[in-house]
Amino acid sequence: MEKALSTFAAHAGRPTAATDYRPICTPVHNAVTYTYGDMGVLDAVFAGERSGYVYSRFGNPTVTALEEAIAQLEAEEAAIACASGMAALHLALLGAGATAGSTILTSRDLYGGTHALLNTVLVRQGVRVRAVEMTNLPAVEAAIGESKPTLLLIETISNPLLRVADIPSLVKLAHTAGAGVIVDNTFATPCLYRPILHGADYVVHSATKYLGGHGDTLGGVIVSSRQRCLAIRELQKLIGDVLGPNEAWLIVRGIKTLPLRMRQQCQNADLVARFLSEHRSVDKVFYPGLPTHPDFALCRRLFPANYGGAMVAFEIRGAAQEQVFGFMDALKLVVPATSLGDVCSLALYPTHSSHRAFSDEERQQLGIRPNLVRLSVGIEEAADIIADLEQALAAIGSG
Ligand SMILES: *Cc1c(COP(=O)(O)O)cnc(C)c1O
Repeated sequence: MEKALSTFAAHAGRPTAATDYRPICTPVHNAVTYTYGDMGVLDAVFAGERSGYVYSRFGNPTVTALEEAIAQLEAEEAAIACASGMAALHLALLGAGATAGSTILTSRDLYGGTHALLNTVLVRQGVRVRAVEMTNLPAVEAAIGESKPTLLLIETISNPLLRVADIPSLVKLAHTAGAGVIVDNTFATPCLYRPILHGADYVVHSATKYLGGHGDTLGGVIVSSRQRCLAIRELQKLIGDVLGPNEAWLIVRGIKTLPLRMRQQCQNADLVARFLSEHRSVDKVFYPGLPTHPDFALCRRLFPANYGGAMVAFEIRGAAQEQVFGFMDALKLVVPATSLGDVCSLALYPTHSSHRAFSDEERQQLGIRPNLVRLSVGIEEAADIIADLEQALAAIGSG
């Protein structure tokens, strides 16, 4: 019998037979659910006796392609993609043992969102959070001894003053005391550093930044051993903070050019940092690739030659917030917007964005002054970025 139009419409585009051709890039699998030739197979997949997909909250082929790519980049067995960097941090913390009564030792100058997540959501659930100056190893050792943390949460390169963490030494201190280590490697990317190779137990990324790289996708990833990822996957199935297949596809696409972008962005950042450090309207430049940065030696020891990261922060001499806003409004090429890691250069005012969650007093203690600007240097021609910064500094009169 001829099927009705409505029946055809409901099944439109459904794949039917297997094919002998293969696409050369990962397809976007938007299907929420999967079917097999017989119910026995579906049952075996549900039971975990056979690999496969049943429902997109449990796993999705496009998302798996991203997870496998990230695991390889970070030199680890497995990875789990999440809806955002914050979702990845939250899930990694839960999976790594952030439960009531446990203590997490973090850096003082943590990403604002992470600081807020720990000190509101997790603290309310009975987790103890203690902050320490991560670049001060004796202070970290003392804090570990006193607070007996379950976990250390470290950022490879901090924000916005771009301090570099001595991850091998911190891992040693943590493991000696039986604590696990989560490293937020967003700012460094695996092109600069692979924390797993230096003993870290979990690596987390906001894939929204360099991994995606084009400012068009929100996402996050957790990287860890197969066994730990299996346990985290069980949590994720229940919490449901999964990444969508379209987002996974865009991040996979971004990753293809990650090494090229990082090479160019680090080279540009180095030139921008040198330009700024010689400019008479600039008080201070924070860039780990500059010999004046407190972590220059560590940067040279941990990261490949010529890779100092692609973030640069600087203080505009004598500028109050009004002049900083004037500078940012005068930019014509560099985009004054939150976020980082895009192909386009971005400028941000930490006081109002990345460190909004901190009090004035906390910011002052961290050394985040009201004349501080943070740049995420893009892939444009370095001379064009520098010319734009120069004209915007001149526009506020102190140039
Ligand atoms: C952006 C960022 C996050 C949060 O990631 P989202 O994708 O915005 O949720 C966490 N850590 C660092 C270092 C970041 O830069």
